[in-house]
Amino acid sequence: MSNHQTDIVIVGAGPSGLFSIFEAGMLKMKCHVIDTLENIGGQCSALYPEKPIYDIPAHPKVLASELVELLEAQASPFHPTYHLNQQVQKITKNNDGSFLVETSRNIKIQCKAIIIAAGCGAFGPNRPPLENIELFEGKSIFYSIRNKKEFVDKKIVIAGGGDSAVDWAISLAEIAQKIFVVHRRDKFRCAPESANKLKKLADEGKIEMVIPYQLEALEGSNSQLNKVVVKDFDNNIKKLDADYLLPFFGLAMELGPIANWGLAINKNHIEVDRATMQTSQPGIYAVGDIAHYPHKLKLILTGFAECASACHDIFKIVFPDQVYHFEYSTSKGIS
Ligand SMILES: Cc1cc2nc3c(=O)[nH]c(=O)nc-3n(C[C@H](O)[C@H](O)[C@H](O)COP(=O)(O)OP(=O)(O)OC[C@H]3O[C@@H](n4cnc5c(N)ncnc54)[C@H](O)[C@@H]3O)c2cc1C
Repeated sequence: MSNHQTDIVIVGAGPSGLFSIFEAGMLKMKCHVIDTLENIGGQCSALYPEKPIYDIPAHPKVLASELVELLEAQASPFHPTYHLNQQVQKITKNNDGSFLVETSRNIKIQCKAIIIAAGCGAFGPNRPPLENIELFEGKSIFYSIRNKKEFVDKKIVIAGGGDSAVDWAISLAEIAQKIFVVHRRDKFRCAPESANKLKKLADEGKIEMVIPYQLEALEGSNSQLNKVVVKDFDNNIKKLDADYLLPFFGLAMELGPIANWGLAINKNHIEVDRATMQTSQPGIYAVGDIAHYPHKLKLILTGFAECASACHDIFKIVFPDQVYHFEYSTSKGIS
């Protein structure tokens, strides 16, 4: 067991959690940040690190992984403490209005306020219901791609019909020995331009479309796949030679333990007052994808502004005896 004390605990180290450290730091508030994943960056790191983002103000184009590096650098002068690989499970309100936050690794943190920046909540890919899939996961089955080089000259089965499946099929076709795209219907839920590129690569023989098929079983040994078995609606079976299976069936959206923290919830999102980002519980705030209010736009840039609103409201909790003076960063600097 490890005990800590800080001003703010931030639940989630995605873009909103990381920028909250900066906004809190500018107001001289210290933060501890907790994330279930082993790396910071939330969806940007876990789902699309190599994709360019085009709608971050003043960055005409930035890779998701670069954005995370920049956010980490921007937060670093304020010396946040990161507790990764663990989930926040319990929040208890103390009699004096402060909180005790407890994680799955038995870390306990006393704090004056909490910012929930937990994205989709208990974050995880939708896993296909295949027997023994856990034996191959992390070795020859991946739900996201960190390093494209691993797939050079490999035989890859990509399953799914959304943006991730299509974009990775197009991207890996440049380097793989063979790509199969398994999808249950002939329509893809992706940008029309991507669908056209996929069709072109299939026409050129660089990608083999396996449609209308669904994943049925896995064959291999010692965590190494050698065949992915697929089945069509008439029960016809195909066995695809494969070194890797990449299932892209979207994210599981579950609030997980957050649902038990006594907050007002609206369809898996936390209700907040947009002016302050405070939840239904005084002292607990929510920002980024998890925060809900009318006309909410789930974008990274929206989350950034919400972090500023939350931290400016939290100032009065952390420093009840001080009068808050608004200052620009250009006047204040980051010392
Ligand atoms: C393929 C793709 C492309 C996208 N492209 C764009 C784009 O071009 N522009 C744009 O603005 N947005 C884009 N988005 C959306 C953008 O990534 C999200 O809006 C953004 O990541 C939300 O940031 P966040 O910090 O609120 O949450 P997240 O990035 O989801 O991070 C939340 C973190 O909280 C952690 N967490 C959750 N519950 C707990 C718990 N109980 N304890 C500890 N940790 C917890 C999770 O592990 C996660 O790391 C894209 C999304 C995807 C999937």
